[in-house]
Amino acid sequence: MKAMVLNDTGKVEDNILKYKDVEIREPGGYEILLDNISCGVCHSNLHMIEGDWISHGLPGKKPIIPGHEIIGRVHSLGELVEGIKKGDVVGVQPLFQACGKCDYCTTGREYLCPYGKWTGETVDGGYSQQMIADSRYVNKVPSNIDYIKDSPLFCPGITAYCATEKAELAPDKTVYVVGIGGVGHLVLQFAKLYGSRVVAVSTSKAHEELAYKMGADDVLLMDRDFSNADKYRKTADSLILFAPYDKAIMNSMKMIKDSGVMVQGVFGKIDYDFTTEIRLKGTKIGGRHDMDQVLKIASQNRIKIESKEYRLEDANLALQDLKQGKINGRAVLKLN
Ligand SMILES: [Zn+2]
Ligand SMILES: [Zn+2]
Repeated sequence: MKAMVLNDTGKVEDNILKYKDVEIREPGGYEILLDNISCGVCHSNLHMIEGDWISHGLPGKKPIIPGHEIIGRVHSLGELVEGIKKGDVVGVQPLFQACGKCDYCTTGREYLCPYGKWTGETVDGGYSQQMIADSRYVNKVPSNIDYIKDSPLFCPGITAYCATEKAELAPDKTVYVVGIGGVGHLVLQFAKLYGSRVVAVSTSKAHEELAYKMGADDVLLMDRDFSNADKYRKTADSLILFAPYDKAIMNSMKMIKDSGVMVQGVFGKIDYDFTTEIRLKGTKIGGRHDMDQVLKIASQNRIKIESKEYRLEDANLALQDLKQGKINGRAVLKLN
């Protein structure tokens, strides 16, 4: 099968991923072999590929096939697999596998498991025509989901859903969503489901139109350094942040009312003023039951993914476009 392989980290402008024939083994135990249909191209893939996360120990192996938001059809099964059969369509999210025994795993927070394995980061992922997955950690995909366009449900979808759940939203509240990219455009839609007033905050004029299309009630256009955030001091009940820039993070804090909620889903420096009593919550991804909720909401047509298709061999181009902010919504690789 063909795959885009990362031998060593480097710049995507140098076409760092190589299009190659890769041997894939038969699945054993709880494993399943998937014929991949599509895989989203995530900002975190870009970080790992370019070596930004070497200090976090990623990539966890070399060479590696990146990609962690995948929809695929089951090709064959290991001998211990239950409840999944050949031909089923399933999705794989960033959490490839967890221990199943620790406190986090037994309380529905398996994505915090210290023994977790990560799709496309510590094990091979979905920039490929086929992959091995753990049958216990995939979710069945409803038949009315678009198998190509909707693979991002498995990373930005679940990430946006879980971030929104933590933001304490209600009909009389105002929530600011900072950063309207792959995750942000979904946060806007999930936030609307709570009936809150949803305000998109972005430095990109191009994202303004997308934000309104995704249901934003208002859009605040920020200067590149977020200096005009002062104008909106203490106006948000909650703020959900997916803009990975220190200036965006520090200035976003100013826009939250005292004792409001800040949900942060990206790395960045924070200058915390305890006198505001702002409640800061980190958000990572979610577990299998969260993923089922996301699929249910998507299958009811209540959220919509904006995506742009690329061929597998054009993954470098998709990453370059992502880096340059040229993608509205999400890039997806069409794999078979
Ligand atoms: Zn992702
Ligand atoms: Zn665990």
